Amino acid sequence: MLPHFLQSVIALITETSTNLPPDVRAAMAAALASEEPATRAGQALSIIAQNIDQAESCDGPICQDTGMPTFEVKVPIGANQIWMRQQIRDAVAEATTRGKLRPNSVDSITGENSGNNLGPGTPIVHFDQWEEPDIEIKLILKGGGCENTNVQYALPMELDHLGRADRTLEGVRRCILHAVWKAQGKGCSPGAVGVCIGGDRTSGYMHAKEQLFRTLDDLNPDPRLATLEQEIMDEANRLAVGPMGFSGKTSLIGCKIGTLNRLPASFFVSIAYDCWAFRRLGVRLDAHTGAITSWLYRDAAKPVTPMLAPEVLAAGFPRTGREVALQSPITEEQVRALTVGDVVLISGRMFTGRDAVHTHLMKHEPPENLDGAVLYHCGPVVAKEGSGWRVLAAGPTTSIREEPYQADIITRYGIRVVIGKGGMGAKTLAGLKDSGAVYVNAIGGAAQFYARCIQGVAGVSLLEFGTPEAMWHFDVKDFPAIVTMDAHGNSLHKDVEEASGEVLATLRK
Ligand code: SF4
Repeated sequence: MLPHFLQSVIALITETSTNLPPDVRAAMAAALASEEPATRAGQALSIIAQNIDQAESCDGPICQDTGMPTFEVKVPIGANQIWMRQQIRDAVAEATTRGKLRPNSVDSITGENSGNNLGPGTPIVHFDQWEEPDIEIKLILKGGGCENTNVQYALPMELDHLGRADRTLEGVRRCILHAVWKAQGKGCSPGAVGVCIGGDRTSGYMHAKEQLFRTLDDLNPDPRLATLEQEIMDEANRLAVGPMGFSGKTSLIGCKIGTLNRLPASFFVSIAYDCWAFRRLGVRLDAHTGAITSWLYRDAAKPVTPMLAPEVLAAGFPRTGREVALQSPITEEQVRALTVGDVVLISGRMFTGRDAVHTHLMKHEPPENLDGAVLYHCGPVVAKEGSGWRVLAAGPTTSIREEPYQADIITRYGIRVVIGKGGMGAKTLAGLKDSGAVYVNAIGGAAQFYARCIQGVAGVSLLEFGTPEAMWHFDVKDFPAIVTMDAHGNSLHKDVEEASGEVLATLRK
């Protein structure tokens, strides 16, 4: 068989997880340059830029959510696809062992994590034959926050703020703008959308995801779609959702639209949202050896262009002097003194908790005393080191999933600070006010940046839920985050959603 195939796929996974392609870097650099450094959007983009550089320099995952590995493979006629599929599965398991992928494959009924990213439907591998002599493999790693944001519209239909979307390109335009607006708080913005007009429900979603394999700066060969893509870029960025939904100039870094024929009775617009951590790469392999002959999306001979100058990277989080230092355990008085917009630097012990921990805490006492505690919505990438653990990546996960539980858990156990991304809803906002707690937004996807704020792992509880879902006890120093929901009933997320909704209404035409 092909002696280098396995190592080539491991290299592809590693590079995709740790090193953003040049077109995405360029789009994020332009976003960074467009914002004032001292604004919330500027600070968020600065952390993102640091994170991109840190991930590349340490070969660590850019975001802790390494997503659903999706491979698109083209092979010459006669290639053994059964053998290649097994090799790709072996490569995924090995990359997981090396900490380049987080164990992300769980049994859909029991929730049990397979631990190696293998399971029914994981990874996704699509094969196609072609007339070329080489093998081509493209890979995209798209995390849960943005996968949950994918949406499919069946036209005609009524849309919030935009009215009726008909079975026309104008109707499609309204759907895409609506999807970008709805994505706030879920996929980490600025993001990109892959769109399919037509197909059936299944092929529409697949073709939308395939659009994300195009480079952000390419030109659609269909002039009608090229015009629509440009129009969407201009209008979506007028929404001012901004980086992480903090409001700002860049909400979207790419819009790529394709079409499939449809049944006369159906008109689907399928949208695949990808976040700023837009991890997509590819390789060409020698069909006789499996060795990499060239990389797609980047010139391997060219050095990577850093996002930041070395001295800016070394300086770390750009402080204004107005930051509020918090040492856990935190008192109600400290929390009630905070208001939306405050930047906090958290030190001391924090506990992670995401879906499984929240469900558990609704029925069981916590394994640790959470009075005055900081609860971090995070599913880290960790590696066993001797008798302890090392954190390889630890950014925030999407908080809104915990909305049904969060207020009850805060009240019951005395939690004072919840860290996450994207904000939470009305029930949590009321719970923060009643109990005296705040929600602070960390920068989504900044997994390397936040891993460097963790000085040690003091312990872990509920490890039976798997490493991403366990409750980790981190000791942190100067962990920066922005208060976006305070104990006085204010929510930046609600304000930005309403303001961007008003702009959306003006785009009705
Ligand atoms: S950057 Fe945000 S949306 Fe993207 S994979 Fe990471 S956590 Fe999910």
